[in-house]
Amino acid sequence: MSALAPYAVTESSSRGRVHAEPAPGIRSEFQRDRDRIVHSNSFRRLEYKTQVFVNHEGDLFRTRLTHSLEVAQISRGVARALQLNEDLVEAIALAHDLGHTPFGHAGQDALNACMKNYGGFEHNLQSLRTVDELEEHYAAFDGLNLCYETREGILKHCSRERARELGELGQRFLEGGQPSLEAQLTNLADEIAYNNHDIDDGLRSGLITLEQLDDIAIFAGARRDAEAQWPGLGGRRLIHETIRRMINEMVLDLIATTRANIVQAGVQSLADVHRAARLVAYSEALAPRLRELKTFLRQNLYAHYQVLRMTDKARRIIQDLFGAFMSDPRLLPPQYQVRARADTPRAIADYVAGMTDRYAMKEHRRLFAVGEIH
Ligand code: MG
Repeated sequence: MSALAPYAVTESSSRGRVHAEPAPGIRSEFQRDRDRIVHSNSFRRLEYKTQVFVNHEGDLFRTRLTHSLEVAQISRGVARALQLNEDLVEAIALAHDLGHTPFGHAGQDALNACMKNYGGFEHNLQSLRTVDELEEHYAAFDGLNLCYETREGILKHCSRERARELGELGQRFLEGGQPSLEAQLTNLADEIAYNNHDIDDGLRSGLITLEQLDDIAIFAGARRDAEAQWPGLGGRRLIHETIRRMINEMVLDLIATTRANIVQAGVQSLADVHRAARLVAYSEALAPRLRELKTFLRQNLYAHYQVLRMTDKARRIIQDLFGAFMSDPRLLPPQYQVRARADTPRAIADYVAGMTDRYAMKEHRRLFAVGEIH
């Protein structure tokens, strides 16, 4: 790793782990976090969790796993350019979606509705809960015992109500401070990844078309640029040449704008980062073009009737599972029955949220399909 900027997170400035552990030896503390995440059960489950398209619809669509890898790739590139902590951004990126339910946002909304009277369900909070409590890997503690800074990055959003229960980590949601630059940039790298790969997957699925995207300035500009350099190029290569230019434009803009913001705010240290306004940002020229793209995706892809049909089915599966376990917690697997003694709805939410798409469908069949006995 190249020399870090004075405002980067460093191991020596880390607020450490909840349970003290010996130094990691050949690895950095944040590499150790990354490694623990990669070896976790919830990380492997990401392979079979929907990003937008359900896993069985096609082998080339992004899953939560490949999405997380793309976020890590973009985050590392930006972190290196800004001399921030690459190991930390990689750990945050790989863990950021660990708490996601099956079936993408539809699943999360459905579970949140089920949990309305029991404290709600927020996927960011669930990612934190997964690494703090739910992973059962180590003899000495529950969870992965990650560094404070990794956990801070995982908790992107949080309601004020829940923030009060989180102590030190929830503080910034109550008092308005900012997280590290590493956390801020991973958040935007997430957005860069999904805005671009959702266009790619949307085009591959045929739910959106190149003609529609010609009205979207950021896409049209990148496409013109690709066509000027490669006249006559078409098909998948044109799409890829267009999307790589969009990713490049977003990443370069983010780096330049963030650098300028750091200078302008006079930020010299990590403490300055926490006190300053949000520093990792796009330029005023790029921001409205990105908003246009997001609006397009919301209206034309996420609300496409074929996606909504899946969404609706997902909602019913989650509701059915939650309802069945609530009416008789004895239907839960034994380890969740133990948890259910302390807090039944939360234990059910943990179980359902941890499911992959196909496991949820299988469990639904086991509980509801007449003729299925195991
Ligand atoms: Mg994400």
